[in-house]
Amino acid sequence: MQPDYAAILQTIFAEVQPLLSQGKVASYIPELSKVSTQHFGMAVYCLDGSTYSIGDSQQKFSLQSVTKLFALALAFSREGDAIWERVGREPSGNPFNSLVQLEYERGKPRNPFINAGALVIADILSARFVQSDIAVQQFARTISGEPTIDFDMAVAQSERQTAHRNYAIAHLMKDFGNLHNPVKTVIDSYCRQCSLTMTCAELAKAGGFLANHGSVPWSGQRILDASSSKRLNALMLTCGTYDAAGDFAYRVGLPAKSGVGGGILALVPGELAVAVWSPGLDATGNSLAGTYALERFTTLTARSIF
Ligand code: GLU
Repeated sequence: MQPDYAAILQTIFAEVQPLLSQGKVASYIPELSKVSTQHFGMAVYCLDGSTYSIGDSQQKFSLQSVTKLFALALAFSREGDAIWERVGREPSGNPFNSLVQLEYERGKPRNPFINAGALVIADILSARFVQSDIAVQQFARTISGEPTIDFDMAVAQSERQTAHRNYAIAHLMKDFGNLHNPVKTVIDSYCRQCSLTMTCAELAKAGGFLANHGSVPWSGQRILDASSSKRLNALMLTCGTYDAAGDFAYRVGLPAKSGVGGGILALVPGELAVAVWSPGLDATGNSLAGTYALERFTTLTARSIF
């Protein structure tokens, strides 16, 4: 029997209120620090087409690293296993923007969800598309059915102006021969990609194909074969929530991808996608109230992959 999602979202909404002021917005991208921590939105997209939402679920927010999932799905759908020659599939055990491991692992990023890995994926996409960021935008539009999905140029510019660490990562990989395009081209595309905005309702719908074994539930379009979709779900579980993926799996028990804009997309394979947004982050970079909301969601619905 399907849980009463509407009632469960209401319960969660009430429970997270005291947490909203406990997280800290990302401030290393100055434009993101302007967003209030008081926002909370959550949306559920069931594969049967039913939807449920609460709070600021219709408000656009900065997807940031959640776009790494779209970029990876697009690259994997085009290049297949060839991408693993340039990026690994292991949790890094380091912060998402760390340079340390990259030096002693000779420019091959641990996984596609840390910044180094996402820059390599942007580089791979640049070989296929004129502009990788536009390709990811188009992809986001295809999987969400929202032709208006767009960049936030103020956020993109804000990140570009302060992207010293990402420049350092890209230069290091260039030195090791793992970046084929010019560093500036890749960084510019990556910053625009990260600035894409969506609402929770749009994001949950966009995640539907990964819950639906690779095909878009509402259009039937196949994006990935079922085996590839399974593999992306596995990467989300092991690497999708920064250096806290183990704790997130323990608490929530779902494959998920988070971003420093405060968004998290999580999947119950074969059943639904759920998106949550609350800009206050915990020390690892995951939305503090968002993680708690998903923990409560899997507890109250008794849905998890375990
Ligand atoms: N654009 C951000 C960065 O490169 C994304 C970080 C994130 O959301 O994890 O730092």
